[in-house]
Amino acid sequence: MGMAKATVTGAMRAAVLTKRGAARARSGHPWIYRSDVADATGDPGDVVRVVDRAGRFLGHAFYNPKSEITLRIATREDEPIDAAFFRARLERARDYRASLNMDASAYRLVHAEADGIPGLVIDRYGEYFVLQVGSAAVEKRLAPFVTALEDLFSPTGIILRGDSPSRKREGLAIKIEVLSGEVPDSVVVHEGPVRYYAGLRGGQKTGGFLDQRENHLAAARHISGAKGAAARVLDVFSYAGGFALHAARVAQTVETVDSSGDALESARGNAELNGLSNITCTRASAFDLLRERSDAGETYDAVILDPPAFAKTKRDLRGAARAYKEINLRAMKLLVSGGTLVTCSCSYHFSREIMEETLRSAAVDAGRTMRVLEWRGQAPDHPEILTIPETRYLKCVILEHV
Ligand code: SAH
Repeated sequence: MGMAKATVTGAMRAAVLTKRGAARARSGHPWIYRSDVADATGDPGDVVRVVDRAGRFLGHAFYNPKSEITLRIATREDEPIDAAFFRARLERARDYRASLNMDASAYRLVHAEADGIPGLVIDRYGEYFVLQVGSAAVEKRLAPFVTALEDLFSPTGIILRGDSPSRKREGLAIKIEVLSGEVPDSVVVHEGPVRYYAGLRGGQKTGGFLDQRENHLAAARHISGAKGAAARVLDVFSYAGGFALHAARVAQTVETVDSSGDALESARGNAELNGLSNITCTRASAFDLLRERSDAGETYDAVILDPPAFAKTKRDLRGAARAYKEINLRAMKLLVSGGTLVTCSCSYHFSREIMEETLRSAAVDAGRTMRVLEWRGQAPDHPEILTIPETRYLKCVILEHV
């Protein structure tokens, strides 16, 4: 007989990886695609033992044969994946956040794979915790997480926001469910000197764009430090005013632009909550508004661009680059000399390198010399893991028209 090939037998739930899958697992990446799984048994949401073809142990993973990402490695140690394991991961996530000394009552407590819990996001809004679940294994084991959260934080309420379309890829139903205590529709949280309403049940994401927290503050720093103190600020793709509320504290006027009436309604409410009367809200398509304003020769001391992910997949890249270039080119044209451009992309596939190239080409076509002041990423409570490139996704570039 030749070399014994590892196969999956009996009741033991296990998965055998191809050579390529094993190499990927060894590279430190937790995702194993269906095509890299040689053999596997188990039901969606099972924890399986992962081995290479020679039977060598690689880790324990969440298994979901319905998902393109068929295995998500949860540990590379040979240890039980039980309530104690999950609690230890939560404690580790909590300790890291505590070390960050964030001046904010809303932050990401668990960032899924980046915190060693594949498919689980937990955002904290004061005394409330909002869960987003993107793996069948976590969905099956919500009870231990709820218990651990109750033990560690004594929250007033915990809610599952299972309304992300990506759940379909894992075969999970769309639902919003209170898991513990009581959860209001929205809650007031603070981010540095600013307060805002987070819509826990109906807001975008889990209620706020927490990954932009430090960029909101950085943008305001640059705007207030700009020559002659920024008088007029245009916050495009504003949502509920994440950037605008901070900018309005240092600028004369801020105009927020969003295509969503609900978003602008929230922005108005937040402006009022902070006693800021210098914010106006305009409902429009960003592309149309930027073109019209630049054609009309309008100028601003600062423009902020924080669009939704234009490149959700690699295939979207070409179209996305065109869209990013268009809005950035227009924004650069709108800036006075000495003006600030804060420009963001949350598309992982639209890499830092591609973004830099796109901005360069926008500056050339706009006929503007742009000084690079800062390259920034997501707030550190959304950790980036070196061996998981997808955990580095948000870019925020601050530029000055010289
Ligand atoms: N800047 C916000 C987050 C923005 S999220 C913060 O820091 O909190 C992106 C926003 O862009 C959403 O509110 C969405 O409604 C809006 N949007 C999407 N497409 C748009 C378009 N074509 N024109 C204007 N707004 C758009």
